[in-house]
Amino acid sequence: MLVNAKEMLDKARAGKYAVGQFNINNLEWTKAVLLTAQELNSPVILGVSEGAGKYMTGFETVSAMVAAMDKSLGITVPVALHLDHGTYEGCYKCIKAGFTSIMFDGSHFAIDENIAKTTELVKVAHGLGLSIEAEVGSIGGEEDGVIGRGECADPDECKMIADLGVDFLAAGIGNIHGKYPENWEGLSFETLAAVNEKVGELPLVLHGGTGIPADMIKKAISLGVAKINVNTECQLSFADATRKYVEAGKDLQGKGFDPRKLLAPGFEAIKATVKEKMELFGSIGKA
Ligand SMILES: [Zn+2]
Repeated sequence: MLVNAKEMLDKARAGKYAVGQFNINNLEWTKAVLLTAQELNSPVILGVSEGAGKYMTGFETVSAMVAAMDKSLGITVPVALHLDHGTYEGCYKCIKAGFTSIMFDGSHFAIDENIAKTTELVKVAHGLGLSIEAEVGSIGGEEDGVIGRGECADPDECKMIADLGVDFLAAGIGNIHGKYPENWEGLSFETLAAVNEKVGELPLVLHGGTGIPADMIKKAISLGVAKINVNTECQLSFADATRKYVEAGKDLQGKGFDPRKLLAPGFEAIKATVKEKMELFGSIGKA
């Protein structure tokens, strides 16, 4: 059931668990995430980056595919279709294409410009029933070619953005996209606690969920994180399962080259990763 992400995240924040955002890349990815959420009776957010949207030939294609698949599979758990790290222009494209939620990433603008653009987009999104996420303090690592430094957000700036009426807020707390380096210092719980103190009941978002140890995830949830983004981990498990299939020569046996067979192990691997994350985040049975 396609909905915006506000209610599911308010409930998660109040219930001290988090809803996973799993980024999608194609039909297999979408189907794997939707089916797992339904089987486990968990709310879920499908994340689409601008790069992935482009890869799938545009946001309209993505929106049509997700809406049709949600219906065809008889999905009854709450599903939000969310733009990940949207530009100003990208947000408008997704609103027009029928997404139910957007993220405006104005973290690279000066705070005044971030505020001006976020204010405008909050008004437009809410007017059409979409939820909206904003970001303060950049997330480290690479996202669609943009390298972030992984700085910690200023709690006062978080408060300013929260007061604009955004539905959930991504605050940088030393988290990064992609794999974490060996010398990573870990999440800054000091920053997270200070941000949480300033923004009241607003659900917080943790980007770069791949490879963050379970105890840090639990602590982050206890400090107001209600949405955790997972992207790289599904890619790694998909690639690993596919490699094993090919290395075992299974594509050369019988009709093992059939794409429906070739992609099946990767599909199952995505399902297993999504399940593992939903267990860790505590969202199972919360639909
Ligand atoms: Zn992110």
